[in-house]
Amino acid sequence: MSSTVILGAGIIGVSTAYYLSQHQDPTSVHLVEPSPELFSSASGYAGGFIAKDWFGPSLAALGALSFDEHRRLAEEHGGREKWGYSRSTCISYAASAAARDPQSRGDDWLRHGTSRADAAPVTQDSLIGNTPVWLRRLEGDHIELISDEGTTAQVDPFLLCQFLLQECLKRGVKLHHPAKPISVSIDAKGELAGIRIVSTQPSSTETELPCARLIITAGSWTGQVYQMLFPKSELRVPIKSLAGHSLILKSPRWHSGLASNGCHAVFTTHNEGFCPEMFSRVGGQIYFSGLNSSTIPLPDADAGKATPYKDDLAQLRQAAREILGAGPEAEDDLEVVREGLCFRPVTAWGTPIVSRIRDEDLGNGVTTRPGAEGGVFIAAGHGPWGIAMSLGTGVVLAEMVQGRELSADVSGLAFDGKKGTEFYAD
Ligand SMILES: Cc1cc2nc3c(=O)[nH]c(=O)nc-3n(C[C@H](O)[C@H](O)[C@H](O)COP(=O)(O)OP(=O)(O)OC[C@H]3O[C@@H](n4cnc5c(N)ncnc54)[C@H](O)[C@@H]3O)c2cc1C
Repeated sequence: MSSTVILGAGIIGVSTAYYLSQHQDPTSVHLVEPSPELFSSASGYAGGFIAKDWFGPSLAALGALSFDEHRRLAEEHGGREKWGYSRSTCISYAASAAARDPQSRGDDWLRHGTSRADAAPVTQDSLIGNTPVWLRRLEGDHIELISDEGTTAQVDPFLLCQFLLQECLKRGVKLHHPAKPISVSIDAKGELAGIRIVSTQPSSTETELPCARLIITAGSWTGQVYQMLFPKSELRVPIKSLAGHSLILKSPRWHSGLASNGCHAVFTTHNEGFCPEMFSRVGGQIYFSGLNSSTIPLPDADAGKATPYKDDLAQLRQAAREILGAGPEAEDDLEVVREGLCFRPVTAWGTPIVSRIRDEDLGNGVTTRPGAEGGVFIAAGHGPWGIAMSLGTGVVLAEMVQGRELSADVSGLAFDGKKGTEFYAD
């Protein structure tokens, strides 16, 4: 089978390498990643909340497949110990009856575009005995259960990425890091035959990787990577970024010993106009985020991890204190373990691209070998759901690339250049 080069070792890239390398010589699978620190973008800094059925029709099959694959992988490989896989109970929280707006919930933004058009009905199951002990309860506050049993779960995405990558490397997958692509090579027939990469450390060295199959999984950078490699293509890949700040906290009210009943995901709204979301993890940490911005510029990937904005961190920290603290008069007993800023890859229409790119869209007469022998593929734009969708995307993309039958219908995620043109402004 042809060599396959994957550009971008976030969770979508490493999941794809993981499933590809189960069905072809692993040494023919290459991962190229420019960031000096692995998983320093969205995949390492995400919350790690995963859901089975919060998605609209075009994503429903992939969401369900991915959720089941998360469980299967965790059961087979000790996911609880290795990457904090746990079932999770999901609730919507309003600090007071006055703050509670029956028309909106803290998780609504997650559902817009990417999820069921009509928000899930509040489930009738009782929450008694299964409320998060780490959440500060106030007189008159209100909590609602918004997940059905067994349909939401939690992982530590950084650890999951590391597990997937280590398995790939053990099998023989080649990691080129830190390195970035500079151009594609075309043979005498005009077919894609390789890619030139430059490793950036310890010194700048150029290498040619022969390949007939190229997969771009570069998250928020996917559009620029595609345009740089296929400069004559008229296709624009309209993936933008939605930045998000986050904190990982330790609280005296949450530790790993309490995780036997599972973790919690809590969605709420804040009077400063954002929607905090927080997830307890089996390792005894609480992930806190919800402060998002579409105007924070996307940094260069080879610059490494992004520097968080002090004011945003302070705002998040204050919200955490209000929602998770011991009380207004009590000493602030939350410890910040990690601060982060990362960038969700988003499409304007709300669902990712998981697609082969048609040869006629590559520009300049570039072609690829037919069928499973060649092709240029894109898998990116998973928005707030890239961790949830990661394993399913890896399964299906590997099948698509290798010409096998697909485990989920992803025809709604195909990209042919007409899709999204109305959203794209140069
Ligand atoms: C604050 C926050 C919280 C989130 N919480 C959740 C959650 O709870 N659940 C969930 O399901 N999702 C969550 N997400 C979304 C999720 O993190 C993303 O959808 C997912 O990580 C995207 O993965 P990716 O591999 O496509 O992109 P990335 O993780 O961004 O990886 C892309 C990789 O491509 C590399 N790259 C860049 N340029 C090039 C180049 N020229 N060549 C090769 N490689 C390149 C980058 O360095 C990077 O490593 C969250 C996101 C944010 C920001």
